[in-house]
Amino acid sequence: MRDRADRQGDMTGMDRRAFVAAACAMGLWLAAGSSVARAHAQQPPRTRPGRDSTDPAPSEPAPVPPGYFAWAALSDRVLFAPGDGGNALLLLAPRGGACALVDAKMPYTATTLRREAEQRGGTIETVINTHHHLDHIGGNLAFSADTRIVAHANAKPRVAPQLERLRQFLKSGVRTVSNSDGINKEQALKDAEALAAAADTIAAERWAPTQTFSGRIGSANLGAMPIDLHQVGAGHTDNDVIVHAPQLDVVHMGDLLFHNLYPFIDRDSGARVRDWIKTLKYAKRLCKPKTIVVPGHGDVTDVKGIDGMIEYFETSMDFVQKQIRQKKPREEVVAMTVPGQESRGFEHLRERAMGAMYDELMG
Ligand SMILES: [Zn+2]
Repeated sequence: MRDRADRQGDMTGMDRRAFVAAACAMGLWLAAGSSVARAHAQQPPRTRPGRDSTDPAPSEPAPVPPGYFAWAALSDRVLFAPGDGGNALLLLAPRGGACALVDAKMPYTATTLRREAEQRGGTIETVINTHHHLDHIGGNLAFSADTRIVAHANAKPRVAPQLERLRQFLKSGVRTVSNSDGINKEQALKDAEALAAAADTIAAERWAPTQTFSGRIGSANLGAMPIDLHQVGAGHTDNDVIVHAPQLDVVHMGDLLFHNLYPFIDRDSGARVRDWIKTLKYAKRLCKPKTIVVPGHGDVTDVKGIDGMIEYFETSMDFVQKQIRQKKPREEVVAMTVPGQESRGFEHLRERAMGAMYDELMG
């Protein structure tokens, strides 16, 4: 958004039912944002890593001012922005001149995310959405007018039904940014105010992907370098994309990976745990021992993080199946904690995950 206005957004227009429906996603980013952002809050301002420069002194790239997001360099060409929705990645082309953004966080930080990504990576050639949830597509509205946004075809029809929730998050965004752990809030607050003022005029198309792929394999360009997109089947939703940049040795798993956290299993959007496990095993085959693995929520990990998610699901499905064989009622099963999985975060999602597995196994 480039509109500016002084009116501060508020929650008074928010329909309570819609707000409650959004509470799960909201819980996800609140929890992830606070813990991860704090971990990076003390880092110094970053410089643009290795970009060609038109400045008079190209060997001394201009320092990038601290942003709202706790940007962290995972390698020379891979920047990470945690919190305020799903984890985002900025992938820089090997010889500069282009970058790709994977996931776009919450709607109220759309303008902020674009500005801070461009400060660090230059022109953004492509935005990739790992799936349709609003905490991953919210920032699309800052890009859709002039930037390619790639997602799986199944994601597109799932965007418009979220319009009211997306607008509600825009309206409450000023308060959210104000209360957040964001490092440099001043400009982010102004951005959020402008978006809140315009919320009711923003159409659903502004959040929709502009380019989709069907089937299992798609691609997105990063300059001359291809990025592989894998849609393996129903997992967290019916449109999860594993984003693999082989030359950068990084994989963004989207919400197929809740690292050390209880997962959100979105059966209404086609989630299936048995297929999710198969997808995770597929993702493992994309990884080498040092491949950077980025979860949708939680800390950056490697292939062992995927192993941990597989173990959680296999152990939990076996456990729930055992309770079903013993004729335990659903309400008793969802209240249980799977042995060995007690230390996971996102406790508020534990019961819901157990219920989803119970329902899937009961068929
Ligand atoms: Zn999600």
